[in-house]
Amino acid sequence: DSEPYALTRDAAVGELLAAKGAALQLVWDHVLRAPEEVLTGDGRAYRVFTPYRNAWVKSLPADAFAAAESTPRAELLQPVTPMLPTLEEMGFEQIAVEFPGAKADDALLKRYATDRNTPALRGTSRLGLHLRFGTISVRALARQAQAQSETYLNELIWRDFYQMILHHFPHVATRAFKPEYERIPWRDDAEGFERWCRGETGYPLVDAGMRELNATGFMHNRVRMVVASFLTKHLLIDWRLGEAYFAEKLLDFELASNNGGWQWAAGTGVDAAPYFRIFNPSEQTKKFDPKLEYVRRWVPEYDSLSYQRPMVDHAFARARALDTYKRALQPG
Ligand code: FAD
Repeated sequence: DSEPYALTRDAAVGELLAAKGAALQLVWDHVLRAPEEVLTGDGRAYRVFTPYRNAWVKSLPADAFAAAESTPRAELLQPVTPMLPTLEEMGFEQIAVEFPGAKADDALLKRYATDRNTPALRGTSRLGLHLRFGTISVRALARQAQAQSETYLNELIWRDFYQMILHHFPHVATRAFKPEYERIPWRDDAEGFERWCRGETGYPLVDAGMRELNATGFMHNRVRMVVASFLTKHLLIDWRLGEAYFAEKLLDFELASNNGGWQWAAGTGVDAAPYFRIFNPSEQTKKFDPKLEYVRRWVPEYDSLSYQRPMVDHAFARARALDTYKRALQPG
C-alpha cells in the first residue's frame, strides 16, 4: 500500500534483499484495483470520485476477482515457521475489546442499501478492520458484493479511491489536498478538543459517536461524518487533530480512508462538499436517529437534567465557520 510507513518499510526490505542478492517483487494485494490501473483518458489520476468510479466499473475485466488471492500461494516464499516472531515479540498485547468475525452475511448485504445510514441498526458489515489487517480477502468480498449489493461494492470503490489519492498525491498525508485550504486559521482550543474527545459537547449525536468510539474502537460512518464536521466546522479545530485521535482509537484505522474522510469533512480534500455545506447535528439526528435509539444507547443521561447544554450555539458556530473559511480562501 501507499502509506508513508509502508513505503519506507518496503524500501528497507528491498535494500536488505538487494544486499543479499535477492529481488523484491511488490504486489498490489490490499486494494481491488491498483492506483495506476484506473486513470483518465490522458493517463492522469482522477480527483473526483464519480468519474473515477465510472472508469473503475467500465474497465473492470469480466473475470476480475475470480481468485481471492492476488498471487497464488505456491509462488510465494513458504514461511519458515520458527523464524517468524510471535505477536507479543512484535509488541502486540492481548486486549479485551470484542471484534466482529471476518465474514459478510448475504442477508446483511441485501439490506445494506436501506440500513447503512441508520446508526442504531447493525446495518453495516464492520469488516473495516479485517480489510485493514488483510484478514479477509477484498477480492472475495467484492465478488460477494457483485452478487448481493451494488451499494456495498461502491463503498469498496471509495476505499480504492482514497488509496489511489494517497498514492498519487502523497502530500495529503500531512497537508490539505487543496493548498489554499492551508490558510484556514484553525482555533487553538485544547479544552474544546478534550470535550469533543470525551463526548461531552452537548450535541447528543456527536457525544454518542465519540463515546461509541472510545468504548468500542468503532463508530458508524454517518456519525463519523457528523463528529468530524462538528470538530472542523463548529469548533474550527484543525482536521489533523481529529484525524490523529481517530487513528489512535479506530480498530479499522487506515491512513488513506481516515485522511480522505477527514479532509472531506473539513472541505479541504478531493471531491469535498463545498465548505458552506455545514452539517446541522440536530437535523442529522432527526433524519438518521429519529427515535433517539442510538443516542440513548451511548448517552444514558440524555433525558435527565444532568445532560449538558450545547458547548457552542449552532447558528453562531455556522456563521463563524462560513466567515473564517470565506476570508481565508479569498484570493490575494
Ligand atoms: P461498511 O459500511 O460495511 O463498508 C464496507 C467497507 O467499505 C468498509 O469496511 C471500508 O473498507 C469501505 N468503506 C466504506 N465506506 C468508506 C468510505 N467512506 N471511505 C473509504 N472506505 C469505505 N474507513 C476505514 O476503513 N478506516 C478509517 O480509518 C476510516 N476513517 C474515517 C474517518 C472519517 C472522518 C470518515 C467520515 C470515514 C472514515 N472511514 C474510514 C470510512 C467509513 O466510515 C468506514 O470504512 C466504515 O464506517 C467502516 O465500517 P464498516 O466496516 O461497517 O463499513
